[in-house]
Amino acid sequence: MSVTEVTRNGLHIAIIGAGIGGLTAAAALRANGTDVVVYEKAHELREVGAGVVIASNGLRALDEAGLGERVRAVGTPIERSVMGTWHGESVPMPPAWPSVSADRPATSLPVHRGELQQALLSALPAGTVHLGRPCHDVVETSDGVRIVFADGSEEHADVVVGADGIHSVVQRVVAGPVELSSEGIMAYRGLIPVERLDHTVDLSCMQMWIGPGRTFLIYPVSQGRLLNIVAFTASTLDAEESWTAPGDVRELAAEFADWAQPIPGIIDAIPQTFRWGLYDRKPLHRWSTDRITLLGDAAHPMTPHLGQGANMSIEDAVVLANVLAGASAADVPQRLALYESLRRDRTTRVQQNARQSGGVYRSVDLTPQQQAAQLTKILADNWIPDYDAAAAAGEALAGIDRR
Ligand code: FAD
Repeated sequence: MSVTEVTRNGLHIAIIGAGIGGLTAAAALRANGTDVVVYEKAHELREVGAGVVIASNGLRALDEAGLGERVRAVGTPIERSVMGTWHGESVPMPPAWPSVSADRPATSLPVHRGELQQALLSALPAGTVHLGRPCHDVVETSDGVRIVFADGSEEHADVVVGADGIHSVVQRVVAGPVELSSEGIMAYRGLIPVERLDHTVDLSCMQMWIGPGRTFLIYPVSQGRLLNIVAFTASTLDAEESWTAPGDVRELAAEFADWAQPIPGIIDAIPQTFRWGLYDRKPLHRWSTDRITLLGDAAHPMTPHLGQGANMSIEDAVVLANVLAGASAADVPQRLALYESLRRDRTTRVQQNARQSGGVYRSVDLTPQQQAAQLTKILADNWIPDYDAAAAAGEALAGIDRR
């Protein structure tokens, strides 16, 4: 067993999982004076062939954690977002859709997932992230948490954060086994070097086309060197939930063969595609014990139709770091309960609205105008992008201090 290091606030926190949520939490906790270590099952943090959009709520939270500039450095600013039908007609934009306008400056930032991961990693001192350490179990003890790895080795921490994704081991310990729920939708994903597109696609914006049972989304990543595509189609296949399950470009092309250009042309240019099924899960009855908590997909996996899964994991990470700042070991149970109470309603609402949005996008009954109107309703008052996670944590902590 390793020796717990002496820390600035006295807490030694172990995070299970070095995804977007785990790395953000590590950097944010460290910045708040906590000793932190991350255990990741993969042997290397390698680039994953997909993009992700950091929305303004996520960017705001990253700024609070001092990570915004690193992420902006690898982001690809877009000038606007547009939506169209599968016939090529334009559709009115739901106001809070990732957009850019004079009163809403460039706050949605597409990034390559691998580049985002490296940007977050660069904020951590060498030795913080331990690769090739699959967690097998976590056991709460009288003085902390024992972490048991697949090879039988063990480590000890004052607090464990399960940021181990949709198939979380830590979640099962905290809340028992809970079934995932398939949306019956397959996502195809791919990255296209822009030179293969022959200047046929506007790379300055995010574009989405909607049609009965299908949607097709594109945006640039890697400073405009790559075009990210995500295509959603109905599926009865229980597809593996994975970033790397190979997909068949010919099957993808067949799904969109009767759609207006540029979609078939874009699919023609895709060198390879990955696919996975989309799942979420009913909200857990609890996220935390006295010394173990969850964040990101481990706590609240959601379908990607609001582009908020990673953003919610970033918000979680920043709230968790803020509520644990200055906490003693004795404060931890109360602070973890506060973290959960701050995050539960918001993430549940996003989860539920993401499911609902998927249904609206792929509706066979609604006209494009009705679809846009329903999405506008779901996104009313900019309740997702305008949220300030760190401010919410600050207010809650001030409430505790006043008591
Ligand atoms: P993960 O990214 O899954 O990371 C978990 C980490 O834990 C991994 O590194 C894994 O290897 C590790 N791990 C797992 N088990 C163990 C173990 N036992 N021991 C040690 N390590 C372990 N979100 C957005 O905000 N914007 C988007 O535009 C967006 N687009 C998406 C498009 C699609 C098609 C899909 C499917 C998702 C999309 N998402 C998007 C959602 C987003 O990808 C996830 O919500 C986000 O990756 C969750 O981050 P996380 O850190 O919680 O989990």
